[in-house]
Parts: sequence; C-alpha cells; structure tokens
Amino acid sequence: MYGLERKKIVGEDNVYDFSIGNPRSTTPQVATDTLKKLLDEDPVSLHAYSVAAGHDEVREQIADYISKTYDYPASPENIFVTTGAAEAIASVMCAIAVEGEEVIVIAPYFPEYSVWIKNALATPVEVMADPETFQIDVNAVKAAITDKTAAVIINSPCNPTGAIYSEQNIKDLSAVLNDADHKIYLVCDEPYRKINYGKAVPWVPKYYEHTIVCDSASKTLSMPGERIGHVFCNDKKAFDAISGSARALGHVCAPVLFQRMYGKCIDVQPDVSVYDTNRKLLTKMFDELGITYVDPQGAFYLWAKSPCEDFVQKCMDRDILVVPSDSFGIQGWFRIGYCVSTEMILNSMLAWKRVMANVNN
Ligand code: PLP
Repeated sequence: MYGLERKKIVGEDNVYDFSIGNPRSTTPQVATDTLKKLLDEDPVSLHAYSVAAGHDEVREQIADYISKTYDYPASPENIFVTTGAAEAIASVMCAIAVEGEEVIVIAPYFPEYSVWIKNALATPVEVMADPETFQIDVNAVKAAITDKTAAVIINSPCNPTGAIYSEQNIKDLSAVLNDADHKIYLVCDEPYRKINYGKAVPWVPKYYEHTIVCDSASKTLSMPGERIGHVFCNDKKAFDAISGSARALGHVCAPVLFQRMYGKCIDVQPDVSVYDTNRKLLTKMFDELGITYVDPQGAFYLWAKSPCEDFVQKCMDRDILVVPSDSFGIQGWFRIGYCVSTEMILNSMLAWKRVMANVNN
C-alpha cells in the first residue's frame, strides 16, 4: 500500500519495492494452453460444482504425481483440492487442533499461521530456528512439546528465510515427534517446493507417518490470484475432519476450471532462472556491502541481518521497501522478496550503497 502511494509521488521507477511475494516468473505456457482448451468443453459440465474434495480425475492426477515423484503410496482418497495453500492450512488447523491446544511454529514464520491457529481456538507456540543455519532447532521443538501440542507447522523452502530443511533435520524432527506421548501432526506448508536452486526438498511423509502436506499452484505456476491448491493427508480420520472444517469455513469446492488445469499441470516445473539471477545479484551486492544474510536455497526471499536498529527506516528513506523481521516473529533481521524485475535490482544498487554509507557513518 505504502509502495503504491509512494510510486504516485516519486514515480514508478524510483521506488524499489522488495516487500511483496507475487511471483515474477511468467505462467508456464502449457498452463495457459490447458486453460484455453478447457474453455472449449461443454460449459454446463465444465463450470458445474465438483464434489467438495475436488474432481475425481484431478485428485487422481495429483495422487499419481505424488506416487511417481516421491515413490510414496498416494491415492485420490488422500487428496483434498483447496483454494490455495491458505485454505488448506486454515482447514487443517481447524481439523486437528481444538480449543486450548497448542501448535508449534518455527520462527521466523509466515505471519498468517498465527491467524489460522487462533481461528481454530488453539495457541501458536513459537520455537526459534537455529540462528545460524535457520534449520529447525529440533531440541528446542522437543522442549516446547507439552501434552497440549496438537501439531507442528514447517515451511520448506521457507518464507522468509529461503532455508530448505535437510533430510537429517527432518529425520531428527520425526524422531522427536515419534517419541512424544501422543500423536502430533506435522503440517508441511510447501507452496515453494518446486522453487529451489538445486537442493532437494525431502518428501516429509516418508519420514513421519502423521504428516499432512499443503501445496498450491500460486508460486509454482505463477498464479497466486487464481486460488488453487491441495492437501495431501493419508490419515482417514484427519482427512474427514479437514473436509468438515473446510465446509464450516465456507468451502463448497475449489474453482473447477482451475482444478482441471491444476491436475493436468501438476508435474510442470517452473522456470526459476529469473529468481536465480536475482538471488545471485543480491547476494553478491550484499557481500560487497557487508550485509550478512542466510544463503537462500529456495523460495524467492533473502533473509538478512539488519546492520543497525533503524535499518528498515533507513531503507525507506531511500525508497527501498523491505519487510522488518518482527512481522515474522523475531527481531533484528529483514526480508527481501526477489521476485522482482532484475532491472529493478540493478537500478536499486546506488540507493543500497547510500543506505550503507549512512549506516557506516
Ligand atoms: N504459505 C506461505 C509460506 C506463503 O508464503 C504463502 C503465500 O505467500 C502461503 C502459504 C499461501 O499460499 P496460497 O497463495 O497458495 O494460498
């Protein structure tokens, strides 16, 4: 909002807005072509309601993709098609947590988690990630588990840190959850799974039985406004509860045209080259300017240490817009969304140098 207002005053090209997470990569042509082709079908059946969990064909396509890609048994009965990862997580929270229970989040974390947890009348419990690597601090999770813990939410690749949790990290977390005296769900929020720069993203259900995965087309197919995604859950009781809570939250079915496209394009890989170029440019610039950051392994966010207390304001004074880390549950850092044009990054370099000159004076 501030960025739009500021652009009106100083001009579009003079505001360097790194504050948003709208994908930059163009929507894959195959997704657009699929949508166009679908529009030629009989409109009466094309636009009709589907069953709440989604068209059978779509659920089958998603399940097949999971089975083949992760060599993991998945069936259409495990798939609930949603309006994006947001609806998926909000419904899962209402399904698996009740009033008075707790859900562990790994700070820094996507701020909506606490909204969705509180909507389920549960309490978010923040556990700081390892401050060096931003991997999950498994011992800290262990210490935070109580008899009220209903679930842990993890997000890999992570918004805002860009971290991908390693296989060992996931194995260690699974061991801790398996050791608990009661069943704890592990909710994996994965809209950035396919946006990574070479490091594998472990398929968590392979390591921990009570895993529920939430995913979407928002970032992968660069379609965040179209609202399509899914839940993978192979626990029948939890799946039925998710269906019930989604209904209570107003879900009838996910948009049917986009369901059909999503199913057909579930195996499409996004072009991450623009993010990769931006990531390299920004990290090189931060190296030169002496700004400490976490090496981003996935998603399109750069998580960096504020070189001084009022750094975000100092950036704003030069029309560089970044997100302060307190929005994500910790102090002293800031987030850059590098899903922007490469040109904007290049144009912003002088402003960054001026900010740092101010900091160092
Ligand atoms: N989870 C994380 C970590 C996100 O960054 C976002 C969107 O930015 C979402 C969930 C919601 O994604 P969707 O657009 O699929 O609802």
